[in-house]
Amino acid sequence: MVTMDEIVSLCKRRGFIFQSSEIYGGLNSCWDYGPLGVEMKNNIKRLWWKANVQLRDDVVGLDSSILMNPKVWEASGHLSNFADPMADCKVCKKRWRADQLSEYKCPECGGELTEARMFNLMFKTFMGPVEDESAVVYLRPETAQGIFVNFLNVQQTMRKKLPFGIAQIGKSFRNEITPGNFIFRTREFEQMEIEYFVKPGTDEYWHKHWIEQRINWYYKLGIKKENIRIREHGKDELAHYAKACVDIEYLFPMGWSELEGIANRTDFDLSRHQEYSGQNLTYFDDETKQRYIPYVIEPSAGVDRSFLAFLVDAYENQKIDENDSRIVLHLHPAIAPVKAGVFPLLKREELVKKAKEIYNNLKYKWIVQYDESGSIGKRYRRQDEIGTPFGITVDYQTLEDNTVTIRDRDTMEQVRVHIEEIIPYLEEKIEVKF
Ligand code: ATP
Repeated sequence: MVTMDEIVSLCKRRGFIFQSSEIYGGLNSCWDYGPLGVEMKNNIKRLWWKANVQLRDDVVGLDSSILMNPKVWEASGHLSNFADPMADCKVCKKRWRADQLSEYKCPECGGELTEARMFNLMFKTFMGPVEDESAVVYLRPETAQGIFVNFLNVQQTMRKKLPFGIAQIGKSFRNEITPGNFIFRTREFEQMEIEYFVKPGTDEYWHKHWIEQRINWYYKLGIKKENIRIREHGKDELAHYAKACVDIEYLFPMGWSELEGIANRTDFDLSRHQEYSGQNLTYFDDETKQRYIPYVIEPSAGVDRSFLAFLVDAYENQKIDENDSRIVLHLHPAIAPVKAGVFPLLKREELVKKAKEIYNNLKYKWIVQYDESGSIGKRYRRQDEIGTPFGITVDYQTLEDNTVTIRDRDTMEQVRVHIEEIIPYLEEKIEVKF
């Protein structure tokens, strides 16, 4: 299996992810997505949006603000409960999350630990010029609450009937005690969340539905089945408001870890917001003529963790024969940052002209790259390493019959295709049928 060091090194070498503010020595747990990283990340977000909003008549989107009225965090319980137990080693001074230790001593040096104290994970800042208590606001630690406080706005303006969902993608911030494992746990990250509102009593059905939907999303995008598993939370582990919670876990280089959580949050959030805001947040059910607070199923995924899982799953250091090997990313074509490389076989004027024509035409549809430097073999390998699924080569036959070769990244086999057939050929392979 690939190591995290190999992934980090590829990401840096090929422009997927850089350390934040690197020229100043970086900033702990902060990362910047480079030119290829931002394309791949956008692809992941678009594919999530497509499967969960565009293709579903019962889910609509939202983009709420990061800064919210601080009362939201009182109502949600984040101000009083969103904390992890923290303990310091008295000997080496390292800081640990006490709930993640198997024995109560320092895992690094075996030293004695201080008593655990609770540490709130929300980032605090001030709004406006005066830095006093009344100006305190928080960076949201999840996108979910922006959805809950807009429940009625969305339901009424979109004239939605239960069951229906609201989806949102956006940045969240948590002052994690022990960030690490590259982009797996950072203090600034992106989430893709759905709050799916249902009639109480139908919640268990919809919980199962969403677990299935979400796992299938990863499968459809090429994640290997053996690297995904489901873990149900034990009763002792469940958040006090949740009736049930299931984690989708992925086999990361550091072991099985949470990729996405899918919780049955009951009517907890809307009830609390009703109580703290004094607004009536009940839903009127046309069929039963009753008013009630809906139950909520919440599939909550991390953009960055999905990104890491897709990379790890796709990475192969492949031995081709005795003297030859290549690094190849077997990314699903829909996830791959660059869809095709376009190459003139040789740097001859008539081949270059034709290749550029094809490249300029494909640009309208996808991110593609033109490359004329080095041997054709080297150019293919450069694209393999960033997961480009197709290599389109213009050779002398192209000038006679308007056909090109299209090389498949995984099999390295080539087919001859007419220039007019390039787009439909690629489209068929890039499009995901969710
Ligand atoms: P963990 O137990 O790993 O801290 P969590 O259970 O607190 O995660 P949730 O609150 O359920 O996480 O958040 C939903 C999703 O958001 C997670 O499954 C993960 O993909 C993502 N996520 C949460 N915290 C972070 C973080 N610090 N860095 C990157 N992604 C995160």
